[in-house]
Amino acid sequence: MPGSLRLGKIAGIEISIHVSWLIIVVLLTWSLATGWFPALYPGWSTFAYWAVALLATLLLFASVLAHELAHSLVARWRGLPVNSITLFIFGGVSNIEQEPKSPGVEFQMSIVGPLTSLLIGGLSFLLLLAMQGGTSPLAAILGYLGLANILLGLFNLVPAFPLDGGRVLRSIVWKLSGSLRTATRAATFAGQGIAYLMILAGFWLIFGGDILDGIWLGLIGWFLLSGAQSANSQAMLETMLKGVKVGKVMNTSPVTVPANISLQKLVDEFLLPHGWRSAFVVQVDRLAGLITLGDIRHVPRDEWGQTLVGLAMIPLEKLHVVAPQQSLNEVLPLMVGQDVNQVPVVEDGRLVGVLSREDIMRFLEIKRGLGLDKGST
Ligand SMILES: [Zn+2]
Repeated sequence: MPGSLRLGKIAGIEISIHVSWLIIVVLLTWSLATGWFPALYPGWSTFAYWAVALLATLLLFASVLAHELAHSLVARWRGLPVNSITLFIFGGVSNIEQEPKSPGVEFQMSIVGPLTSLLIGGLSFLLLLAMQGGTSPLAAILGYLGLANILLGLFNLVPAFPLDGGRVLRSIVWKLSGSLRTATRAATFAGQGIAYLMILAGFWLIFGGDILDGIWLGLIGWFLLSGAQSANSQAMLETMLKGVKVGKVMNTSPVTVPANISLQKLVDEFLLPHGWRSAFVVQVDRLAGLITLGDIRHVPRDEWGQTLVGLAMIPLEKLHVVAPQQSLNEVLPLMVGQDVNQVPVVEDGRLVGVLSREDIMRFLEIKRGLGLDKGST
């Protein structure tokens, strides 16, 4: 994720924090030091409030990290690769590379996060009980951690996809109906319903005079709503592309030109007559690079006769290359993420095809046209 700082590794999983997280640390420490702790525990020094507030904030984020680690470790235990965890403004995200393969895996992976939060919250309250409460800084921190973790656990259990509770709901519907697609629809529908209710309740509060709480609730609702919508289309796409290999969708006759011709010849004999805007460059039968109109424009016009295509092209090392046996679910996020429209498909160094976003879209259109998109997967 851009804008994140690496902290280190836990159990082989890279942990980073997003810059937005630093803003939340400042805001939360400030509001705890000037609002929460002084109201509940009067009579401490200003320094004590700030020190306790900072410690409580950092411990809360350690709890969020434990929540995410629980998701990640269970995912890895069930055979899904986990790259990293990023802590950001709304909590954390575990970058788990694939969607769970069965409802059981999804259920275990999703429920373990909120359970971890509830466990930390419960333990904090037990410790507080064991030391018979009191108004010491330790008691204050335990009380805050207990409350915050239990709220975090409960909030994440709200059955609004893509929150953990929504995933739990999805796994249950998936198990009952046998269809991931139906389950995703149901979980997203529930998520959107809850999001609209929150936004409505937010307006209710605003018009009732409780402006700050209203805005806050409305924002959470809006966040859930956009999350549900993008999670839904993402999940639909993944379902439709499931098991489809690059080799099945790619165009097997890519536009190629030799590397040892001049730019002038390239323009006169290949690009202009065929109306091509770019071409893959091959040397003997191996892919060497890609030449586009932009690369040609970079060379002054009077040098086109002497400049070879191989010197003006984007070399192979700078291209994203995929293999025919890779799955589309693996390749599409890469194309979208890097904002590339087409990728060369290479097998043993030879160019065997080209995969473009249009190819993928056409494949999806045909599948939909034949009614093959409604199969239960
Ligand atoms: Zn979670």
